Amino acid sequence: MEAVPTKLCVVLPCYNEAATLEYSIKALCATIDGLVGERLVDCRYSIVCVDDGSADGTWSMICDLSKRVGGHVAGLKLSRNVGHQNAIIAGLEYVAGRCDAVITMDADLQDDVESVREMALKYREGCDIVLGVRRDRKSDSWLKRHTARLFYGLMKNTHTPVVPDHAEFRLMSSRVVDCFLQYGERNVFLRGIIPSMGFKTAIIYYDRVARKFGKSKYPMAQMLNFAVEGITSFSIRPIRSIFLVGVIALFLTVSVGIYVLVAILLGRTYPGWASLILSVWFLGSLILVALGIIGEYVGKIYLEVKHRPRYFVEATTDNLKPQMQQ
Ligand code: UDP
Ligand code: MG
Repeated sequence: MEAVPTKLCVVLPCYNEAATLEYSIKALCATIDGLVGERLVDCRYSIVCVDDGSADGTWSMICDLSKRVGGHVAGLKLSRNVGHQNAIIAGLEYVAGRCDAVITMDADLQDDVESVREMALKYREGCDIVLGVRRDRKSDSWLKRHTARLFYGLMKNTHTPVVPDHAEFRLMSSRVVDCFLQYGERNVFLRGIIPSMGFKTAIIYYDRVARKFGKSKYPMAQMLNFAVEGITSFSIRPIRSIFLVGVIALFLTVSVGIYVLVAILLGRTYPGWASLILSVWFLGSLILVALGIIGEYVGKIYLEVKHRPRYFVEATTDNLKPQMQQ
């Protein structure tokens, strides 16, 4: 008996992606239409674009595409920028229970769109999770390549279950999405959580291409302009800075050590002075570093217990609600 075509949803987080969306949606639809022709994917597939508080014409572009592109495109507009991870979660919450499998990928289509076919095949073979892993990092800048290597090295040493060079390009079956949505934490790190969930998992390798339109706008630091009140109610940076002070103090300890050594060599010391002064500096810096590390976790707990909503939906495209009520 022929297998039933998969009812597929694609979630695209979009932050200031007006320049690329038309190209991305058309390329994605062309690929998925091919899979519909192969009876791999059901013709009622949908692409849900999550506008993560964009400041350009992304939302009007999504609304326009939702009317034009065969009824496959739907969108939701978040009330402000909540970051890549939360935008993906918003999309997952919207599509949960409405399809057999969900693929998440970047809106700039840097993740190879042709790999969607391979993911759909793996799903049909019975995999619940299919992770897209980059074959190499040739398309990255020197800096990004090296910081990525450092990042994955650090992840490995802290036993965080990440798959090197896997980002947010993955397929999840609907039951994996349902399980994932039970995670209530606010500090979400999808590429650590999903691979640690278990289920039958496959990896597919792909070549990541350079961005065709628009530019990378990953926000690194957002909270610089908050007043002290704002900072202490929204950020754990003051606690984190204790760690930084500890590291600087450790560095100073080394300098004091050199000074003490020189003083000993010149005979300008009193008995017991060197060991006393060094241990004061050394233990002081160790305490600050330890406090900083503990502070980091206390800060995380602080953010978790507030349990603030991850996002608010400001608007949806006209077709989203009826489509999602199927
Ligand atoms: N993105 C988002 N919210 C943000 C930043 C980025 O939804 O605050 C989306 C962005 O629109 C894109 C994906 O996350 O679909 C990856 O961003 P980008 O391409 O800028 O990152 P890069 O590929 O350069 O790492
Ligand atoms: Mg990108």
